Amino acid sequence: MDMQSSLLDRLFDAGLLIDTGVEGLYGRGGAFEDVIARFERMIDAYGGGDGAEAMRFPPGMNRAHFETSGYMKSFPQLAGTVHSFCGGDLDHMSLLQCMEVGSDWTQEQKATDIVLTPAACYPLYPTIARRGPLPAGGGLYDLQSYCFRHEPSNDPARQQLFRMREYVCMGTQEHVTNFRQSWMDRGLEMMDKVGLDVAIDVANDPFFGRAGRMLANNQRDQNLKFELLIPVTSAAKPTACMSFNYHQDAFGAKWGLTLEDGSVAHTACVGFGLERIALALFSRHGMEIAEWPQAVREALGYPG
Ligand code: ATP
Ligand code: ZN
Repeated sequence: MDMQSSLLDRLFDAGLLIDTGVEGLYGRGGAFEDVIARFERMIDAYGGGDGAEAMRFPPGMNRAHFETSGYMKSFPQLAGTVHSFCGGDLDHMSLLQCMEVGSDWTQEQKATDIVLTPAACYPLYPTIARRGPLPAGGGLYDLQSYCFRHEPSNDPARQQLFRMREYVCMGTQEHVTNFRQSWMDRGLEMMDKVGLDVAIDVANDPFFGRAGRMLANNQRDQNLKFELLIPVTSAAKPTACMSFNYHQDAFGAKWGLTLEDGSVAHTACVGFGLERIALALFSRHGMEIAEWPQAVREALGYPG
């Protein structure tokens, strides 16, 4: 059995994840959720003093905003749309007939105004743009959302619906790149506290197709994306558990985000893959939280 399915089986057996019959779509047991809640409190302890504005969006977003974002240009393979039945009585009868004979009943489903959120920060940019120019000193936002990506896998660290906690910073180039650097330092410190081995490396997004390869190379050459890597199913191929992205003024220009002086805002975001961090902890310290090293339990606030 490969390392990925064996970790997944151990998580199922321990009741930490719950099988749904679909790869990458899992229920979470109470102990698993508790680890995520505790890790988020640790994030709050590090970031809470920065004065970020907290916002929580649901896991679906405005389809028009999604279209403006350009997601379908870069990542069409990952997107998920929400479709619904919009017909009348006759359509309903033929739908039920399709289901009865096992043919494709989803053919006639129509697109709604909602698509599944691909990253926690996507609903933020149009929201902030609507407010007008950013205040002096820029903007800082605290987000968390379930995100959807169509990438079925038996690797428990590659889920189709998972949570991202994010901080997004808007301001001058210097301001947002300092923000990104400070979270790289904090990320290393936090993972050290919970006993995880980490490395930070330059990375790229999984841009689609041949044109995408150029975009990915460009992103790497310009150091626009870094990932914090932690072993989950493999020490040789560690998993990205945090990412640190500098968008230059691309999102600012796209959404019309401006600074007080009218110039286009630069933006950066820092994302924690919450399931991946919990999985890294279970993989490293074992399925029994009671047996985790005392220092790790203390860092996460488990009772002595
Ligand atoms: P990868 O290269 O592993 O696919 P990514 O580049 O797609 O990761 P981002 O788009 O930067 O990741 O997403 C932010 C964070 O969300 C990642 O650092 C990771 O921790 C988490 N994440 C991304 N995709 C998944 C997934 N399929 N399942 C669980 N967590 C994920
Ligand atoms: Zn990915």
